[in-house]
Amino acid sequence: MFDAAIIEKSADGAQTVHVGPVDDARLPDGDVTVRVEWSTLNYKDALAITGRGPIVRQFPMVPGIDFAGVVETSSRADLPPGTRVVLNGWGVGERWWGGLAGRARVKGEWLVKLPDAFTTRQAMAIGTAGYTAMLCVMALERQGLTRAHGPVVVTGAAGGVGSVAVMLLARLGYHVAAVTGRPEEEDYLRGLGAAEILPRADFSSPGRPLEKARWAGAVDVAGGVVLANICAAMLPEGVVTACGLAAGMDFPATVAPFILRGVTLVGIDSVMCPYPRRLEAWRRLAELIDPEKLEAMVSEIALADVPQTAAALLEGGVRGRVVVHVP
Ligand code: NAP
Repeated sequence: MFDAAIIEKSADGAQTVHVGPVDDARLPDGDVTVRVEWSTLNYKDALAITGRGPIVRQFPMVPGIDFAGVVETSSRADLPPGTRVVLNGWGVGERWWGGLAGRARVKGEWLVKLPDAFTTRQAMAIGTAGYTAMLCVMALERQGLTRAHGPVVVTGAAGGVGSVAVMLLARLGYHVAAVTGRPEEEDYLRGLGAAEILPRADFSSPGRPLEKARWAGAVDVAGGVVLANICAAMLPEGVVTACGLAAGMDFPATVAPFILRGVTLVGIDSVMCPYPRRLEAWRRLAELIDPEKLEAMVSEIALADVPQTAAALLEGGVRGRVVVHVP
């Protein structure tokens, strides 16, 4: 038996979530069973747990799009028992039982060996949010962005993806402008390396097709009008990475930034990201993450706290990253 968060749907379509013991026999098929040590709450987990987004594809479902732990049983020579592993995405916590549980059974090909630099707790302090921030930075670099090109703007800066993006970009020497709806988090964001703090309200109303050109690069977690305004304010040849929809799924933009300033918009999908790029992302994270700064952005909760913290996260009431201690 192990403890897990379980989302169920009744015949009338109502969704409930509870935390309780689960028999091992209910685990899905898979060639590797992992003793989960730490999990985390990402935005997508919060959508799944609260039922506010159509994330879960079958019920009952153990949520949790990521986890870190130790291989318990395995039929793969490359992942013997005792191997420390991390998992991000692949539909885990959506179609496949996920990480908010004491045990997970998955396909070994989805697991990344955890770099020695990290404890399993640190891996989940980074979590899918931080790994996605790294994918955004790598995409900016693939498009040729360097710090000599100019400042980089990060939206949702006090959230999970945003906090790690600010930290990584500052570590790489970029001038980072952090956009936040929480001015009270200014000290926190400056502590992560933000050079300037900008109010979210400046980006939240429809703007002109082209605004004053300010940014060489962007990491956007918001989508919607915010993303449109960011695109409109890019420097010539600027690069925008779009990874989220915290402000909306729509994209009410014009083509002006793309055809008049040569702006590039790069989409980031962490879920089905090719394996070699995942390895590279975790290798870079091990190189760039400052453990003290990482700890400053983490709050820790127990599995039993998951339902209420999920609701708070969607209300924008959670700073940085949440790690979930799995007993
Ligand atoms: P999070 O910790 O909840 O952070 C989201 C942040 O967005 C909030 O903290 C807030 O930051 C900002 N925000 C909230 N409402 C907003 C609005 N209406 N307009 C502008 N900003 C708003 O969530 P997360 O884990 O960082 O995830 C952020 C987004 O990225 C989510 O949409 C998530 O689904 C997406 N994501 C996508 C991938 C992928 O593979 N593409 C992977 C991970 C996450 P401030 O208070 O600082 O303004």
